Formats: sequence, structure tokens, C-alpha cells
Amino acid sequence: MSDTKPFLCIHGHFYQPPREDPFTGTYRREPEAAPYENWNERITAECYAPNAQAGNFRRISFNLGGTLARWMDIHAHETYEQLVSAVRYYYRRYSVVNGLAQAVHHTILPLARGRDKRCQVRWGIASFQHRFGFRPDGIWLPEMAVDYETLEAVAESGLWFVILSDEQVQGDLSQGAGPYKVRLSRNRFITIFVRNRSLSNAFSFNMPAAKDAREWINGTLRNSPPGSLTLLATDGETFGHHHKQGIEVLRALTTPTLHDSYEITTLGHYLRQHPPAVEVEVIENTAWSCSHNLGRWATGCPCTPECGYWKGALRRALDNLSRSIDEIYTDVVRSRDLAPWSLRDDYIAVLLGQVEGLDFLAEHHLGHLSTVAQQQILKLLEAQVYRQCMFTSCAFFFEDLERLEPRYAIANAIKAIALVCYASGDDLSRAFHRDLSIAVSLRTGRTGAQIMDELLQEAQLGESPLGGAMALARPGKSE
Ligand SMILES: [Zn+2]
Repeated sequence: MSDTKPFLCIHGHFYQPPREDPFTGTYRREPEAAPYENWNERITAECYAPNAQAGNFRRISFNLGGTLARWMDIHAHETYEQLVSAVRYYYRRYSVVNGLAQAVHHTILPLARGRDKRCQVRWGIASFQHRFGFRPDGIWLPEMAVDYETLEAVAESGLWFVILSDEQVQGDLSQGAGPYKVRLSRNRFITIFVRNRSLSNAFSFNMPAAKDAREWINGTLRNSPPGSLTLLATDGETFGHHHKQGIEVLRALTTPTLHDSYEITTLGHYLRQHPPAVEVEVIENTAWSCSHNLGRWATGCPCTPECGYWKGALRRALDNLSRSIDEIYTDVVRSRDLAPWSLRDDYIAVLLGQVEGLDFLAEHHLGHLSTVAQQQILKLLEAQVYRQCMFTSCAFFFEDLERLEPRYAIANAIKAIALVCYASGDDLSRAFHRDLSIAVSLRTGRTGAQIMDELLQEAQLGESPLGGAMALARPGKSE
């Protein structure tokens, strides 16, 4: 890599919200996605598959969300394999990984407890390594939501960098995308890359025609200092799904010729040649898609003015439930002289199918327990997975409680409740139901508790998960 020209990196965040039924694992038909069965299929045809065929994943930096990766692995396997081989190709060529991990359930990390931040990051790394065969250098923070505790969790997990948007950073940003250093506790540092918001938004909302794109970038970067980095980071679906010409635009931008004013790179590759020197500070509790201190996912904010107050009420219900689930889990695991949170971190190996549950317990010196005691711990660990899924950012992103996404959160909660009930006999459903009655949809006037009743009926669980715990506790999901 020579430093005679400025560099451009394009990062795509490829992601779909979870849409499968948590009780059956099946995907519903989505008529709005016609002529395709559902949105995942349609966006694959418009974006993931043609970008893979064009070789674009070999030249960009990207992350692939866990829900999408799982779906693609099963339903669009050829495209999935092309993404995996793109990362392998890049590594063979540059000895560096062009993919980033992602916090596994797309949780708004600053709103999560410390141990859940660490779990989301560690599971995200393990999942990336499992799928792509390499340890990632960086991680995508869902919605770019950041606080220092999240950055500590990333650094503790041995990763080098994250991406933030320029409005989330304070200090001298005259070096473009950086990289910059951010000071953490005990005099440690983490590296951040800073995306160019106006350039990224220009492509997201006003993408040029394919024939003009390279000229546009040439004009933008012509006066950038040689060796400097500009980062265009946006949703991957921008290229092909939101803008049809995106496939060709991405291909053109990532294959500059000698005549162009810039060279193309990826974050890990650039970082190896250009270690960070300038120190900056992060503005905590910010995100790239809400300028109201994470209000969009915590309480409701002017981003979704019609939402009322259900977001805070739903979050309180989920937080209360989590606390109860965790108390039961930690009591059981500590009674076996084990550390509950590192056991949970390690459990990703079971989710990824790398080890059977009973072998996992044996590895953690629990092989001597009775079958009943072993099943109890495995079911409580499985409940922890659904309890993580409840907090997917998508549940809180939109304006209405009666959308699919909040229902998904409540459905996962029911599944976690059923597993805990099966394992311990404790029925947490009544308290959760009571908490959910405070969350009201402004559009329909119905409460979260009514949604819960409906979901219980759909899953044929009768009036309480207690009655259906046996049925619901049947084998669950992977990561
Ligand atoms: Zn907002």
C-alpha cells in the first residue's frame, strides 16, 4: 500500500431484523415482499446475491448480522458461501480480515448491563469465527450505540476497533476517518474509525447514477491528503435494495484505476499501516440513528412521535423479567461452584453446534451431576439465549407496540419464562403479564399483556406458560 493517494473504505452493515417465529423457528409469508415469499428472499435477490456475484464483498469492509447470517446459511446458501469465501480471499491476499463481528442479537449495548454487553460481544466474536474461520479485528456496535463500558467490553475481548459516526466523537477530527485512540480505564486504549456522515448519507439517500459515482468520489477525495482515510459506512442494503444501481456503484467505487484520485482499502488493512496517534473522546449514549440520547430505544423520542410511552414500559417489563431469570440462574450455577457469566459466555459453543450440551457440562466439571441436575442447568442456559433475544434493538425502533418486532421480544420472553419454569418450577409469567399491562399501543389501545395472551394462545399454551412449559421447552434455536 503506497501513500501517494488518499484512501477510501466502504463499510456495509448487512442486517435484517429477526422475523422467525421463536416457537417454531419458521418464517412467515410477507405479502409486501411479493413476488418473493418474504423480505429476506427479496433483499437477497436485490442486494446480497448480486453484490456477492459482482465480487463486491472481496473489496469492502462489512459485517453480517447474526439473524441474517443464520437465515442465509439455510435459505440462500450459495450466497452465504460466496460471502465466506470473500473473507477468505481477502485474508489470503492481504493477511487481514475484511469482515467485522457484530454484537450478536443487535442489542443497544449502552442500555444493557455490563455482563450482557460482554456476552453480546463475546458471542458475536465466536459467531464470526465460526462462520468465517478467522478471528475478527473489529466489531459493529448495533446502531453505533456507544458508551465507555461497551468499549471496555470490546477491548477486554481482544478486539482492536469499532466504527462510530463523526457526531459521536469529540476532539480533533482533522485526520478524516482516523484511526483515533480512545482512552479506557487502566490506561488502555481502543481504536475508533470515524465515518464521514455527510458522504455516507449522500450515498444512502441520494445515490448517484452508476456512471457518475466514481467521478463524484474523485471530486470529493481529490483534495484529501495522500495517505488519509475517508470512511463511507452505511446499511449494506443501500447497495441494490434501496438503490437499484447500488451493485454497479459499489463495483465501480471499489475498483479504482491508476487515473482515479484514490485507492481502496479496508479498516483492518489500513490500521496495520497507520496506527492511531491522535486521542479523541467518545460522546456517550449516542447512536447513528437517533440524536436523543438513545431515547428511541429507552423511552421513546421525537424520532417516533406517535409512539406514546410503551417503549419505557416494555423495557421495564423485560428488565424486571431478566432480573428474575438471572436470580434463578445464578443461584443454581453458584450452588455448583461455577461462575455463571463465564459459563454463559462459553455456552455459545453449544449454540453454534460445536459441542453437545452434555459434553459442554462435562468440560465445565459438571459431568458428575444427575441427569435431572444437568438438564436443569442446560434449560436455564437456553433461557439465557431467549432472554438475550428479547432485547434486540428492532423491538424498540418503530412507533407501534403492535408491530412484529415488539411481539418478537414478548414471544422470546415467553419462551424464556417457559424454560425457567421447566427447569425450576418458578412461574415468572404473572409478574411479566402485570408489567406488560402498562405498555399500551396508541394506535390500537391494546396492551402488551393482551399481546402476550394472544401469543400464548397461538403457541397453544393455555393461560400461562406454566401449563405449556413442557411443550415449549422442546429443543430451541442456534445463535
Ligand atoms: Zn430519537
